Amino acid sequence: MKKVIIQDKEFKMSILYVNIKRSIERMAFDINQDYEDKEILFISILNGSFMFASDLVRKIKGPCQISFVKLSSYVNGESMGTVSELIGLNEDISGQHVIILEDIIDSGMTIEGVYNRLKKQKPASLKIATLLFKPQAFQKSLKIDYIGIEMPNGFLVGYGLDYNGYGRNYEDIYSLNEL
Ligand code: 5GP
Ligand code: MG
Repeated sequence: MKKVIIQDKEFKMSILYVNIKRSIERMAFDINQDYEDKEILFISILNGSFMFASDLVRKIKGPCQISFVKLSSYVNGESMGTVSELIGLNEDISGQHVIILEDIIDSGMTIEGVYNRLKKQKPASLKIATLLFKPQAFQKSLKIDYIGIEMPNGFLVGYGLDYNGYGRNYEDIYSLNEL
């Protein structure tokens, strides 16, 4: 089985690009049906979702726009807690049909934060599409509207996902070899 080494870790082949592509085509098919008469504003969460966003939007048939945001974590001086802020969203999303694009949902913490922030801006509708979902790790009651592939717990890299910044360039997805 194909393996890759990134820094100190070994990863083994987990999902081939043909299967990623097929899952994305299925998601796009569902989105095209659900938004037949509506314009979509996709909001892709960087860095991880850039490949997924790029493959998905190419399969969207109706008029749509895409914007990219980033989460920046900073230490809040007052509470000393870590606060993450959405940066890069310049457009007014009020009244728009928004779909958030995420690479992977694990505990659900990140996506819940993004969802609640965007919800405050009063979009006409707000849905979530994630390429990868770890049902055993998910701890929220938030509805995940479009899921590409469900995965067991375990650390993944490739197709946009990184380990210490590396591995995003792989076309296939690899999982950490714990052995
Ligand atoms: P959550 O907030 O749902 O626990 O985690 C979501 C974020 O953690 C993702 O946006 C991603 O950045 C990171 N993450 C979660 N699982 C993995 C994984 O298996 N591999 C990589 N590279 N990042 C992950
Ligand atoms: Mg991410």
